[in-house]
Amino acid sequence: MRKAIFPGSFDPITLGHEDIINRSIPLFDEIVIAIGVNAEKKYMFSLEERKHFINETFKDEPKVSVITYEGLTIDLCHKINANFILRGLRNPADFEFEKAIAHTNRRLSKIETVFLLTAASTSYISSSIVRDVIRNGGEYGMLVPEAVKVKLHKL
Ligand code: ADP
Repeated sequence: MRKAIFPGSFDPITLGHEDIINRSIPLFDEIVIAIGVNAEKKYMFSLEERKHFINETFKDEPKVSVITYEGLTIDLCHKINANFILRGLRNPADFEFEKAIAHTNRRLSKIETVFLLTAASTSYISSSIVRDVIRNGGEYGMLVPEAVKVKLHKL
């Protein structure tokens, strides 16, 4: 059984994340979206909100589930018997950053990291830019899945 975790902050989930997850569905039997909790990071959306956005977006996809975690990603993989880490690559900066993490994870475990190149149409999207647009009252609708839009319209 091929089980992958897709770790990240997802603050909030964007169309870029959604694209990576959708394209990984045929590759794995199960994909666990793992929202990392870092006590030193300040988030725009609460853990519950971030989880809700992802659950809503993939509510019709039985292979996809969401959990939250603290600590090392490879420890989480061992705990839930996941053999792959999934990550998206947008640009050379992502590659350099991800390369060091993937090599380290391979030194510490047997977990393979699988990279998908982002779709050209969403490769410019980042959660931090989405947060900036939201904060400043800009039009964020074309950057995020429906569930995020619905919640923000209610605020
Ligand atoms: P982190 O805090 O770990 O960077 P993110 O939620 O920003 O968490 O990203 C999680 C994963 O999603 C990373 O692999 C990142 O490269 C990928 N990702 C982020 N934005 C996009 C995008 N627009 N297209 C594809 N992948 C993306």
